[in-house]
Amino acid sequence: MTALRPLGILLALLFTLYLPSATAARSLVVWVYAHDDLADISDAQLNKDYFQHWIDEMRLITNHPIEVIFERNVPGITDITYSSMSAASLLAMFSNQSSDIDHQRERSPSYLNKSILLTKEPYDKSESGLLAGLAYVKQTTAIASLATFVAPAHELGHLFSATHNDAEVNFNGWFCETYTFETRLSLRSNCYRYSDKNRQNIADYINYYSS
Ligand SMILES: [Zn+2]
Repeated sequence: MTALRPLGILLALLFTLYLPSATAARSLVVWVYAHDDLADISDAQLNKDYFQHWIDEMRLITNHPIEVIFERNVPGITDITYSSMSAASLLAMFSNQSSDIDHQRERSPSYLNKSILLTKEPYDKSESGLLAGLAYVKQTTAIASLATFVAPAHELGHLFSATHNDAEVNFNGWFCETYTFETRLSLRSNCYRYSDKNRQNIADYINYYSS
């Protein structure tokens, strides 16, 4: 009988070690580079207005923990003079610079990690309207302005494979647009969520890259 005891302990230990690695999901990390033109708005305020509703929504979609980390005063990124740049050039420049930072800080490349440049002003103002943000679809980098409370969630949605086509207008007492609805109409409100189809697109994307 006594000979079995060490085995019992060993099995218990293995079980204990095994269980967390099988169930604990790695974090989804979003680095938010707050442009210097947002110096007068605190991280807490930016998080409350532009990210907390997105985090709440993502928690309904995935069991992965979500970390939103604010970066400030990063030379070459948060001081880019972007007012005369097109959104496409700004996104390209940000992507290059942020990948250098990732390299310097020895962050392992992963499609579950995203970087977003947050600016006060929208882009491409000269054309038929304003562009509130831009993303490399299903990749890792995006830019978003404070033009609407949902601009970061819209672009993060694209990074996690949400599409315009699968977005929708819902009605719950009033019309609201889900996060990746393409053209905002000011008379409609924000739903502060993705459509059911986009929730599935996002869940599939996360499962694919975390398996
Ligand atoms: Zn879009």
